[in-house]
Amino acid sequence: MYGPLGLRRNSLLLGFPPPEWYTVCEVMTNMETKDVLRELRTARGLSQEELAGRLHVTRQAVSRWETGETTPNPETLKLLSKLFQVSINTLLGSPQQLLCQCCGMPLDDASLSREADGSFNEEYCKWCYVDGEFAYSTLEELTEFLVAHMSNAHWPAEQVRAFCTAQLPKLRHWQRPERGTGGACPPPSPSPGSR
Ligand SMILES: [Zn+2]
Repeated sequence: MYGPLGLRRNSLLLGFPPPEWYTVCEVMTNMETKDVLRELRTARGLSQEELAGRLHVTRQAVSRWETGETTPNPETLKLLSKLFQVSINTLLGSPQQLLCQCCGMPLDDASLSREADGSFNEEYCKWCYVDGEFAYSTLEELTEFLVAHMSNAHWPAEQVRAFCTAQLPKLRHWQRPERGTGGACPPPSPSPGSR
């Protein structure tokens, strides 16, 4: 949906080095869940038995995931995500190209944001959503940041601005009623001790 001049530039221009995980995640794209799970388990040197023990499931359950007979349920996917430090999207064989719903950057496991408990938040990049708070309170603020950091000789500032103005409001974050109006929004407050 974003052309070659899309927000992919964001990460490159900001100079974030490609993390080690990147290669692994790339390889796991287009794999089926069963293969992803076997790959991750063997990469950690775990037997089916050992993985089963950590997840409090039977070895047969692990075996069935790896033959493709069954798929882990959502709760188990969360545990696997935490254990292997990969997103649920990756566990499922990357069925979708995740985009940050605030800035539009394509997401991989290295650029995903996390909740305070360390679990992935698969909606946002780690620069837009930091420690449970959004880095940009208005669309204008984000646009100014992107114009300042993404414009260059080939992509002049006014074009970046036009692109941002056209594309950013389509992202879910800015479609929520409390945002996108130019007003400051209170960050969501995960109340500690509510569980
Ligand atoms: Zn973002």
